Amino acid sequence: MRNTTITLLLLFILTGLSGQTIKSSLEISHLIGDFYIYTTYQDLSGNRYPSNSMYMVTTKGVVLFDTPWDSTQFQPLLDSIRIRHKKNVVLCISTHYHDDRTAGLEFLRINGVKTFTSKQTWDLCKKYNAKQAQYYFLKDTSFVVGNHKFETYYPGEGHTKDNIVIWFDKEKVLYGGCFVKSTESKDLGNLADANPTEWEQSVKKVLKRYPSPEYVIPGHMGWGNNTGLQHTLKLLQMKLK
Ligand SMILES: [Zn+2]
Repeated sequence: MRNTTITLLLLFILTGLSGQTIKSSLEISHLIGDFYIYTTYQDLSGNRYPSNSMYMVTTKGVVLFDTPWDSTQFQPLLDSIRIRHKKNVVLCISTHYHDDRTAGLEFLRINGVKTFTSKQTWDLCKKYNAKQAQYYFLKDTSFVVGNHKFETYYPGEGHTKDNIVIWFDKEKVLYGGCFVKSTESKDLGNLADANPTEWEQSVKKVLKRYPSPEYVIPGHMGWGNNTGLQHTLKLLQMKLK
């Protein structure tokens, strides 16, 4: 009996501790090789809501794909990367104009990071007073940074007019941003700027162009399996019925 009580007590203490860890404001998870997913949070109608971004370590420094959503985590992210990898962040690409992708662009620029978006995103950032990148690209573009290569792809409208995805051919990683819903998502989320009809066609284009990704990273919630695109398509088809 006494043992049971002690075990239970210990369980409560451990649960309490892990509860605290889960509430950390910046979470960094290793994905594969040089790829890491980092998550920050914002309060969304009383709920703590996560937003995923990614970074990749190269021989020429670290590349961010989207910025933290939570502005208190801009500096901690740079510090964590420097401590963990002994490298600076050299480049950041944001995948659409909403602030869960762009909030940190100005901070990064001031800290010597080259920041990029598509021209379409750049224009929308300006129009809606979001943080703007320093540079833009006019069409789908391949980037080479140190030992890594990736390409940006604009499939058409979806979650927003300007959403792009990023493809890492060698590692078969598809970074989807908010264009891709997590298989944990039960709905399409914030549709204020979305075009569900075109989104369906855009998802099909991405599936055709990148038919066998090993990893598919959504803008929000879990990335535990690689069927986020198919799940997004299913949610869209339910919505459009
Ligand atoms: Zn989003």
